[in-house]
Amino acid sequence: MSKAKSSESVKVVVRCRPMNDKEKASKFEAVVSVNVKLGQIMVRNPREAGALPKVFTFDSVYDSSSKQIDLYDETFRPLVDSVLLGFNGTIFAYGQTGTGKTYTMEGVRNDPEKRGVIPNSFEHIFTHISRSQNQQYLVRASYLEIYQEEIRDLLSKDQSHRLELRERPDTGVYVKDLFSYVTKSAQEIEGVMNLGNQNRSVGSTNMNEHSSRSHAIFVITVECSELGVDGENHIRVGKLNLVDLAGSERQTKTGAQGERLKEATKINLSLSALGNVISALVDGRCSHIPYRDSKLTRLLQDSLGGNARTVMVANIGPASYNMEETLTTLRYANRAKNIKNKPRINEDPKDALLGELQEQIAKLKKQLEKRMGKKKRRRRRKRDGSDGDELEDGETEDDESEGGDYWREQQEKLEQEKVAILEDHSLVAEEKERLLREKEKKMEDLRREREVGEMLAAKVKAMESKLLVGGKNIVDHTNEQQRMLELRRQEIAEQKRREREMQQQMESRDEETLELKETYSSLQQEVDIKTKKLKKLFSKLQAVKAEIQDIQEGHIKERQEHEQTQNELTRELKLKHLIIENFIPLEEKNKILHRAFYDEEDESWKMKAISRTDEDHQMMSRPPSAVSYRRPLSHFALTCQRMNSDPRYKAENILMVDLDLPARTTKDYQEPVIAPQVAAALEDALRDEDEVQVDASGFRSSLGAAPPASGSLKKSKSGRPTTRKKPSTPASPISPRGPGSALYPKPRGLVPK
Ligand code: ADP
Ligand code: MG
Repeated sequence: MSKAKSSESVKVVVRCRPMNDKEKASKFEAVVSVNVKLGQIMVRNPREAGALPKVFTFDSVYDSSSKQIDLYDETFRPLVDSVLLGFNGTIFAYGQTGTGKTYTMEGVRNDPEKRGVIPNSFEHIFTHISRSQNQQYLVRASYLEIYQEEIRDLLSKDQSHRLELRERPDTGVYVKDLFSYVTKSAQEIEGVMNLGNQNRSVGSTNMNEHSSRSHAIFVITVECSELGVDGENHIRVGKLNLVDLAGSERQTKTGAQGERLKEATKINLSLSALGNVISALVDGRCSHIPYRDSKLTRLLQDSLGGNARTVMVANIGPASYNMEETLTTLRYANRAKNIKNKPRINEDPKDALLGELQEQIAKLKKQLEKRMGKKKRRRRRKRDGSDGDELEDGETEDDESEGGDYWREQQEKLEQEKVAILEDHSLVAEEKERLLREKEKKMEDLRREREVGEMLAAKVKAMESKLLVGGKNIVDHTNEQQRMLELRRQEIAEQKRREREMQQQMESRDEETLELKETYSSLQQEVDIKTKKLKKLFSKLQAVKAEIQDIQEGHIKERQEHEQTQNELTRELKLKHLIIENFIPLEEKNKILHRAFYDEEDESWKMKAISRTDEDHQMMSRPPSAVSYRRPLSHFALTCQRMNSDPRYKAENILMVDLDLPARTTKDYQEPVIAPQVAAALEDALRDEDEVQVDASGFRSSLGAAPPASGSLKKSKSGRPTTRKKPSTPASPISPRGPGSALYPKPRGLVPK
């Protein structure tokens, strides 16, 4: 269930940072002036002295003296408040590198005055919870980074692992396996942020360059459960995305080659995709919004034209040498103003962790209660039976002490019984032993049962400790004062906002109504006034014309850059084609073409596993020769690859696929089929010599005319029917001499004589 709400625009604010020491030392001119009251930024071009400054109007603007807390109270606090109510919220910091994005989002650590939005929101959220009543909260934090279109979990131990995006029809896009910490206080969640920041700098070689090219997203999920009017518990889930975007400056791609070119095209892919999404959203004619073009836009789809409240902070620098970038940023921000979102409260979503936790706690508690109930019953029975004590069960006792007493009681009782058995002389030794064993077993069972009970109780406790409930320090006097102070600050902020809005409206209305009010006393006066007005309008026209020209120039520049990238990519592609045509056999190429497929989920080309076509089981993969190389490489070749431009050693890059093993042409060894007679004969031959009985008569006759009976042949010493076929062996020692005489030499198995 969700409460529908009308659409509202993305709120855009601009913040201009102060001149830094270097800019001051080099005496750069400040070209940006900020009118906080009117919410206007004016940029003048120092090269065109006579030209009018370019004016942009925003929801609010902040000059170089703006304080972090002012920004928070006026702009971010209302957003975080709505997250606490169950809306999704997103804060983007956009702008050129070095203009204060990280300063706005994180600020300066250890300086309470200069803390940014993220730490301020921690304080805000947990203070809100501590003041709440009859509500249960669960707060989770995740921290991730997108660098070159790869998602890294900044809270995971394994920083080399890359995460993937998945989509579910009910909950939308999410990051698979993203770690999230349940946090119970502002300190805890700050620890989470610090851990992520550490990983962010550890994972990169050059922190400055890395942070200007990566997007960091800190996600706080606040789940709140409250008893509704229908008597049921309802859960609202608000998700706050705090995004420190990559530097918006154009990456120069000139001269980049191969891997570096690929890198350069990927670096700002997410950011240019963000720009395209904004353009498409603002342009009413576009039906297709290219969210799927980058990881960032997919992940923040909800924040742009979806179910979220969004604030965009555009950061700019005041110095003249940044003018181009400043104008680009302001135009970008100006466009974003027109994005319409439809925020609504997320009530009872399927993936709420809080609900799950509550259910589990209830289940465990029930289990625990059942155990307690069993015990109570048992105890009552025992009491009634043994000493006839009519005492009622102490219902007022709390469960824990009652449980402890019960265990102790039982244990003592068993011990006593044991002693009694030991001392009982009337029992036979065997009987005694049996009884003792029984008692021991009972004690063991008791102990185990107690352990399970304790484990359950501990589990419930651990789970419950994750849930936060407020209302503890509501009577606290200072707390109350603080709350009043905050309320006042909020009121002031609201008043300022209204004032600004009214001023802006008045400005625009002034121009419109000027004409209607005026009456002219003379023709000359009318001419004068109209000339003045004409001049004003003319200069306005000029400003608009100049703006159009600027935008066109910007477009042309952008197009040229795109063309350049396209040319370079085409060249790269041609080279690849050339290599394929000249170095890769057609047969291999077809095999690869056959195996390659596009993985929709991952949005990348992949290779199917090599399998035999006739039988569809996978072939053995190639044994690894050396880590990440296709074949063992000599040290010399490796050095040449690195140092030398000689393409001979670059061959490794041509085809990086698993070795396609050739089709099998050999057959498995199969035992030959042996005729039964031969098998029997072999068996005979291999038997111990003593067991062999030789029937000489049969053998003799075999040498004569009559063929022997098969049975006698079987028993013949050699068992080799071939002897019959070789009558020509004249030196045969088995020539008959006389019956019964010692004609035969000692049999010696199969050894031919
Ligand atoms: P980005 O993240 O956009 O690259 P940073 O936040 O790192 O820029 O800011 C660059 C420098 O400017 C930092 O030293 C920061 O302290 C300083 N700075 C930025 N904005 C302000 C501001 N509003 N007031 C004072 N110092 C600022
Ligand atoms: Mg930064």
